[in-house]
Amino acid sequence: MTRVTIWNENVHERKNELVGKLYPEGIHGAIEAGLSKLDSGKSLSLGTATLEMPEHGLTEKVLAGTDVLIWWGHRAHGEVQDAIVDRVQQRVLEGMGLIVLHSGHFSKIFRRLMGTPCALKWREAGERERLWVVNPGHPIAEGIGPRIELENTEMYGEPFSIPEPEEQVFISWFEGGEVFRSGNCWHRGNGKIFYFRPGHETYPIYYNEEVLKVIFNAVKWAHRQGSWPEIAKAENVPVDKAPEPIKARGGSVH
Ligand code: ZN
Repeated sequence: MTRVTIWNENVHERKNELVGKLYPEGIHGAIEAGLSKLDSGKSLSLGTATLEMPEHGLTEKVLAGTDVLIWWGHRAHGEVQDAIVDRVQQRVLEGMGLIVLHSGHFSKIFRRLMGTPCALKWREAGERERLWVVNPGHPIAEGIGPRIELENTEMYGEPFSIPEPEEQVFISWFEGGEVFRSGNCWHRGNGKIFYFRPGHETYPIYYNEEVLKVIFNAVKWAHRQGSWPEIAKAENVPVDKAPEPIKARGGSVH
């Protein structure tokens, strides 16, 4: 069983009529429904959390019970409390998977974990995007053909100021000519991170079956079986506690 929490700031849906009509249950609700539909083996336990909930819905208990966290944010990155960012970061380092979607590239948690500005070029013109699979053997690309076509999207273009991805799964081409590294993997501590580009709030991206399939695959990929809760602990091992006896070799022994 993989325990998934889908986090969404849920601001556009309530403030913009178009987005509210597109995602009446919120972007988090659409992703939850989409993943649930794909989960024929009932291997996922799905939950959601939003910004306005106490502790943004990401309490110690919720995070302790989360194997993979999905993150969607855009307008309200600055409203996410630093203490919660610290808590999510710690869980990622211990082994919780993190999937950052679309405008989450500027979220506090993603920039914290990347350590770079994570900036990019952008344009909103409803243009076509073609996501090329550049690593067909990667588990995140399983069941996806050579490419995914999205008829109307917001453009994100290079240079994307991220650390060099450890694994590259998708590269996007846009109608206007730009390209973008749109499916990227990293490890941080014991945790696995996947950034996936599609998902602008004014287009029905999270109803697209291939986009949902990629997120589903990424959830499976990011779920680590082992946890490393003491990853930040720096323990001193005194001479008399060494696994093997240590003979004094002259000089002073501290
Ligand atoms: Zn957007």
